[in-house]
Amino acid sequence: MARRKRKNRSALTTIIFVLVLLAFYYLLDSSGLLNRQESLDTGAGSGLAEVHFIDVGQGDSIYIKTPMQDILIDGGEREQGEKVVEYLKDQNVDDLELVIGTHPHSDHIGGLITVLKEIPVKEVMDPGLVHTSKTFEDYLRLIDQKDIVFTLARAGIKREYEDGTRLEIFSPADPDADDLNNASIVSKLTYGDISFLFTGDAEKKSENEMLKSGYKLKSTVLKAGHHGSSTSTSDDFLKAAAPEAVVIMCGADNSYGHPHKEILEKLEQASIDIYRTDLLGTIIVETNGTDYHVRYAN
Ligand SMILES: [Zn+2]
Repeated sequence: MARRKRKNRSALTTIIFVLVLLAFYYLLDSSGLLNRQESLDTGAGSGLAEVHFIDVGQGDSIYIKTPMQDILIDGGEREQGEKVVEYLKDQNVDDLELVIGTHPHSDHIGGLITVLKEIPVKEVMDPGLVHTSKTFEDYLRLIDQKDIVFTLARAGIKREYEDGTRLEIFSPADPDADDLNNASIVSKLTYGDISFLFTGDAEKKSENEMLKSGYKLKSTVLKAGHHGSSTSTSDDFLKAAAPEAVVIMCGADNSYGHPHKEILEKLEQASIDIYRTDLLGTIIVETNGTDYHVRYAN
């Protein structure tokens, strides 16, 4: 008798336990924590990769989260640094494996000063040119003070990460300190079938060099060079990159008139999807290596 009673009680305990588990599962599921990606399945790969084109007004700042790495390309103007740091902290970034400062102009490396001060950085990749602005000097001093690994970016560098992503540097090959835009670090991130081409402020001269080099420029998503200026995204370069989507990073009503009308027309004619930070705010592209999905942070 006593034995059966204990058995019943343990059956009841099991049922209650299962019900609690189910309730907990549905709670998590409805909160979206279990099913954060409706359209993307992580599939056989090692997870999702995300590229966040952070809205820093007139400037560039791109956060790349691969299954195992946190990478930042540029940090916008100096006064945007705090926004970039907050954004990264919101994404639970506690350190950055790599920071790429595409070129020494303030709308690219300015915000990196706050990033370098507040977030541990393992390595900085830079074109290695001298630029006599206080912002650039402060940036270099911080890299030195924090004893961060400094890598001179040159075309041909290629890194294969354990998580299945690949980072390649296509430019600069032989940069000129008098032509900083064309000294921009151009990099390509590949995850499975999906790839991203990040061009900094590279203009036609740099684009032509990359075309001649024979690098595989074809990419799923292209960040338009130099904020959508007509000095970049030549017909031949666009044809070689053949992107499905182009992201243009620029500030609303900026004084340069970016993006230039010719570029927008060219992209529309080629039926390429256009995503602009001045109109959409921060743009996030998620991929499982097979498909990609675009969403907005604000
Ligand atoms: Zn710029």
